[in-house]
Amino acid sequence: MAVAIRLRPRQREGMSERFATSDPTPGWDIARHPLAARVLHNRKFQFLLIVPNQIVFWTVIFVGLFGTSIPGLNFGAAITWYVWFCLVFVMMVVVGRAWCAMCPFGGFAEWIQRKTFFQRTQKTLGLGRTFPEPLARMGFIIPVVTFLILTWIEEFFNIAGPGNPAATSFMVIGIVATALVFFLTFERRTFCRYICPLTSVIGTIGSMGSVAGFRTRDRDKCVSCETKDCMRGGDDGFGCPWYTWPASADSNLYCGLCTECYKSCSDDNIGLFLQKPLTSVVAPTRRRADVAWAIVLLWGLVLYQQFNALSIYNNFDNWLNTHLHFPHYPNPVAYLGLIGLLALAMAGISWGIAALSARRDVHFERAGGFVDRGSKFRAYFVPVSYGLIPVVGADYFARQLPKFFKSAPRVIPAAQHIFGFAGTNSSLYNTRMLSDSRIIMVQVAVMCLGTMGALWAMWRITNRELVGVSRSALVVRSATLGLVLACGAVAALLYVAIQAAN
Ligand code: SF4
Ligand code: SF4
Ligand code: SF4
Repeated sequence: MAVAIRLRPRQREGMSERFATSDPTPGWDIARHPLAARVLHNRKFQFLLIVPNQIVFWTVIFVGLFGTSIPGLNFGAAITWYVWFCLVFVMMVVVGRAWCAMCPFGGFAEWIQRKTFFQRTQKTLGLGRTFPEPLARMGFIIPVVTFLILTWIEEFFNIAGPGNPAATSFMVIGIVATALVFFLTFERRTFCRYICPLTSVIGTIGSMGSVAGFRTRDRDKCVSCETKDCMRGGDDGFGCPWYTWPASADSNLYCGLCTECYKSCSDDNIGLFLQKPLTSVVAPTRRRADVAWAIVLLWGLVLYQQFNALSIYNNFDNWLNTHLHFPHYPNPVAYLGLIGLLALAMAGISWGIAALSARRDVHFERAGGFVDRGSKFRAYFVPVSYGLIPVVGADYFARQLPKFFKSAPRVIPAAQHIFGFAGTNSSLYNTRMLSDSRIIMVQVAVMCLGTMGALWAMWRITNRELVGVSRSALVVRSATLGLVLACGAVAALLYVAIQAAN
């Protein structure tokens, strides 16, 4: 047994790095509405969000293991790969971490850790260890690596094909078992912040979303607040499970929308703020290199998934497997090598923009002009990577669409099949919502929207952070916006080339 709600100020970047407050709170505080306030103060709120997903989650496991082996007719495989993954991306783009608020993986493990479904408890189950500081400092690097590993496993066993439905169950069991081990070993939601394969995807792509998260209403009150109940936990709520101090949050990156800070702050100084779309992409007060690397690695992964649907890639993978004596697709060397190369290519382009900018500034200085000597790789790479988030998000979403439009109606006969009704002869089983050509049109349209969003974000970021009054303004603007256009065009062309492949 361990007391879970402990504050170790130097232990967590989320807590220790910023006892300085961030920029003024964004947008509209919907928690001011009396009905919203009542709902958010209710301790059963998150429990009720999680319960329906928990029911689906256990159904997925049991039906995957004991149901039909026909993937499209197995409810577990069908709902996971035809619908769920697509919906999670919609939630990310529109809201941010909405999925985390209702996630059955973290929810289940947290119920056990807290020994309650929703009450405020003081003692928790488990060792309550703190996550090692050097690992915590890696931020999104560990989660993006776990996401790459999980995706490789999924491709190797053709889990999301979907292939054998039992494989989907084993994957889900693996995730929840890992989550449980972490929840019982470490304090709070260490798993969600530092390990979960989905957290880097939701955190980065979710920064496009219009929910800024729970933040303080009056930051001056927080500076003089002696209790810091929002972090330590108060009578009515736990300390922030995500190690976030709401007064210092400057983006929605690490707010799991769990409402605990809202319940625990005795000063009623927390609100739930909406923001304009892309605000957390364009204007966080502090950008992070680990987030930037996560973005380019995730971009590398989704491009890899487009490449591997080309027949030419199949030949390459077979050739490599023969030479490396690896049984079958996906060859891990090609998988990691291509993703790494694509990520390094993005870093190289950022370096090139920085170098070009610096060289032109030197010429300008010799001619008596102003020079910004701060131009370095990091200063360009990090904001440029953030500017690509809408393209990356659109690409992930577009990649899910063929399965959704071809097979989502199968979820209904698959659900009926659990009770012995319906089969592969059901009309819905054989219904597809769009033809291949229409799916390609939608994918290209999604890429166009993502590219437009990225152009706008990159324009704002470039003007805010990369362009001073130096001579290189035109060069930098052209290069960053050209990069967005090139990324969007490559992804759209690949969708045309792979012809709505799953
Ligand atoms: S970080 Fe992962 S485990 Fe935690 S709530 Fe989000 S999706 Fe679930
Ligand atoms: S408990 Fe309330 S007033 Fe105190 S720091 Fe947290 S949000 Fe601010
Ligand atoms: S406690 Fe507040 S800041 Fe922390 S994750 Fe929950 S809602 Fe977000």
